[in-house]
Amino acid sequence: MCSKRHLLIFFFSTIVCSIQSLSALEAYRGTIIHFLEDPTLNIKNSYEYLEDGLLIVDNGKVVSLGYAKDIISQVPEGTEIHEYDKNKLIIPGFIDTHIHFPQTGMIASYGEQLLEWLNKYTFPHEKRFFDKGYSKKIATIFTDELLRNGTTSALVFASHSKESVEALFEVAESRNMRIISGNALGDRNLPDYLIKPLDTAENETRELIKKWHGHGRLLYAITPRFAPTSTEAQLKMIGALLEEHPDVYMHTHLSECMDEVMWVKNLFPWSKNYLDVYNQFGLVRPRSVFAHSIHISDDEINLLADAKASVSFCPTSNFFLGSGLFKWRQCRNANLLIGIGTDVGAGTSFSMLHTLGAGYKVSQLQGDKMNPLEAFYHLTLGGARALYIDQLVGNFEVGKEADFVVLDMCPTPLMAFRFEECSELIDRLFLLMILGDDRNIFETYIFGKQQYKKAEA
Ligand SMILES: [Zn+2]
Repeated sequence: MCSKRHLLIFFFSTIVCSIQSLSALEAYRGTIIHFLEDPTLNIKNSYEYLEDGLLIVDNGKVVSLGYAKDIISQVPEGTEIHEYDKNKLIIPGFIDTHIHFPQTGMIASYGEQLLEWLNKYTFPHEKRFFDKGYSKKIATIFTDELLRNGTTSALVFASHSKESVEALFEVAESRNMRIISGNALGDRNLPDYLIKPLDTAENETRELIKKWHGHGRLLYAITPRFAPTSTEAQLKMIGALLEEHPDVYMHTHLSECMDEVMWVKNLFPWSKNYLDVYNQFGLVRPRSVFAHSIHISDDEINLLADAKASVSFCPTSNFFLGSGLFKWRQCRNANLLIGIGTDVGAGTSFSMLHTLGAGYKVSQLQGDKMNPLEAFYHLTLGGARALYIDQLVGNFEVGKEADFVVLDMCPTPLMAFRFEECSELIDRLFLLMILGDDRNIFETYIFGKQQYKKAEA
């Protein structure tokens, strides 16, 4: 029987629930942009640009987006509305599709190209990541830098130690970030201290997948360093693991510099090309991300596109190591899934805005011009598509996770002056990608919660 007392408890608990759900609601009013489609396919309907827009977030997810005048009535009275002036721009969080967290402490190391740079700086430095405490310290600095640069999701190389992956995932979990990472694998052409026996590497990878893949917002990537550091036996083991775990990622490097391409030819004389080495072992498939992919043939581009694999374009790194020019337009025309990557520490900046500026220069050196709309699409929804997380993040569609950045368009006198001169959206976005960097990041929100706010000047 339903007593009066029970009814009262039900009545009050309903009120408490309503208040709790009301208190989780947040609204953000200002200029808002997000992408719905690749602008190259349909420029007019590819994005929404709302000059007095309102983004409503509840429990970390987008519940509504529109012009403030149209949807402000959906916001219950008493809810705090964060209001931003006309010099701010609200945009989905940036997605870095290739970066190495253990290389945070060796960014800007002088004077070498890829293979010498790895031997001289990278491998000795990565030895330190067998120490969990050190790994955690660097993972904290690394994720702080991501947030300070407006990066909310990233595909991240860890080092050749389980400790490094555990440290990164633990720190990323404490900030609720959408991070994809994995233990770097290699069983030859590496210093002894980075090499693990095949069965140890396999067992550790299995354990890490079980523990972290799909744990909160974290996802696992099986991460062979690059073909020259894996034996055929290791590549075979990785292919079998991927077959067993089709929703797990594969993250590696491909055709970054010519010396490396020649080396792969010598190590795998039977291969048709560099990509063929990975392909023969089942590593070219959806959710496989190949960083750089500079010196690739038409056949390789077509295979990547047909397999629905992704590439990460890392222009600051490619300039820094003198690696070469990514074939942006050719890969775009082949409908290849492309994300933008900083590739720190060969990349010279955590800033995805700065990285876009370098990407534009790469396209110019090939007689092309990266359009600002396609650039910002790739920083957000395009990057999410390349990482197969576009059903979760990348724009402000209702139900998506509310990872976003509030950009300050005028953080310096020069940018303020130029901003006033540019009245068109496309010119303002171009200004951001050419002059922009971490100074433009005003606030970064992860799952609807502020995780970074720029200090007052
Ligand atoms: Zn890399």
